[in-house]
This record gives sequence, structure tokens and C-alpha cells, in this order.
Amino acid sequence: MRGKLITLEGIDGSGKSTVAERLQKNPEIQTLKPIFTREPTRGTLTGNAVEKAIQSDTDQLAELFLFTADHAEHLAKVVRPALESGKLVISDRYSDSRYAYQGMTLKTRLENPLEWVKDLHRGWTIVPDLTFLFDIRPEVSIERCGKRGEQSKFEKLEFLRGVREIFLRFAAEDPERFIVIDAFHSPEYIEKEVMEKILEFLSRN
Ligand code: ADP
Repeated sequence: MRGKLITLEGIDGSGKSTVAERLQKNPEIQTLKPIFTREPTRGTLTGNAVEKAIQSDTDQLAELFLFTADHAEHLAKVVRPALESGKLVISDRYSDSRYAYQGMTLKTRLENPLEWVKDLHRGWTIVPDLTFLFDIRPEVSIERCGKRGEQSKFEKLEFLRGVREIFLRFAAEDPERFIVIDAFHSPEYIEKEVMEKILEFLSRN
């Protein structure tokens, strides 16, 4: 039987990586022997290209294609083989991040960037079975990351507000797949909640 794909999504600083790290050490989840992975991928040609692009002044459309190439590589090398061998895969960020972030960055470049980016993935991506959306106000996530700046903070804030809105819209449109987690809670609380929901999901599927 094909394995299950669970993704962790949310704006920067919403606590995805913190939860992923905690889950990796969680004895209950260890019994399920999941594959923990992330996007952008680490230490790969495509993942490194994405990291470099993010840190430099790369054209936003070029950035989208690098991210998408990395997604293809991630699917081919990690996600698809693991799912085919019946494993549980947990990915820290995945295609919804692309739709939400590039939906924002390409706003001035394309008429309907969100749908356009989704179309680009259609036919070859694998839609997750379950997605946790770590929802938080950008003011809080920026504070957590210690990213304080003057004008850039304002821009970042506005940008992340837009990304958050898109994520929340996805969750509202697909309540079967999305579970919204109030990421303002403590890491202990969030870990417990995510754990419970994962076990509940696996017992149903
Ligand atoms: P993400 O992976 O979503 O970008 P991180 O997990 O890296 O976010 O968390 C960003 C920052 O916020 C880190 O400094 C982390 O220690 C802190 N943090 C994460 N989760 C919480 C939480 N539930 N409460 C308070 N601080 C948190």
C-alpha cells in the first residue's frame, strides 16, 4: 500500500522546523519510522541553487523555476520512492509554500500567479494526504525570528500577511486535507496536538 504524505506549512517563523525537530525525537512517532524531509531540499544541486537564489537578487520567475525544479528532484529522489515503499513521509514545507509565496512574489508579473503556479505543478506533483498549517500573525513570527528592520520590516510584514491569507484560504477551501494549528501556543502544546492529529489521521486511513 502507498504510504502517506504529511506536510507542514506556514509563514516564516511559524514554528514548522521546531515541530519537525520535536517530532523526530518523539518516541510515539519513531515507532512509525517516518521519513523526515524538507523543501528546499538540503545539500542537493537544486536545493543549493534555491538557497543561493533566495539570498541574492534573483528574478522572481527564475526563482519560481528553481523552486519547482527542486520540488521535482525532491519528488523523484525522496518522496515518491518512500511513498511507493509504504512509508510515512513528513515534509517541512512542500508545494503549498510555492503556491502561497510565489503567488505573492509574482503578483505584479502575472495575471493570476497562484493558479498559474498550481497549473505548472499539475500532472506530476503528489498532493499531500494531510497538511498542517501553522497559523500565526506575521508580527509575532517576525519577532520570533528577531528580524527587526525599519522599512524592510514593513514590506516583509505586508508580504507575509498576503502569504498567510493565501494559506488560510487554502485551508478553508480544503478542510479535508488541512488542519490549522494555532502556532501561538507553546512548542510542547503544538507537538502534542500535531501528534494526536497524525495518529488520528493514520487510524482513519
Ligand atoms: P519556521 O520553521 O516555521 O520558519 P522555526 O521553527 O524556525 O520556524 O521557529 C522560528 C523561531 O521561533 C525560532 O527561534 C524558534 O525557536 C521559535 N519558536 C518556534 N516555535 C515556537 C513557539 N511555539 N513559541 C515560541 N517560539 C517558537
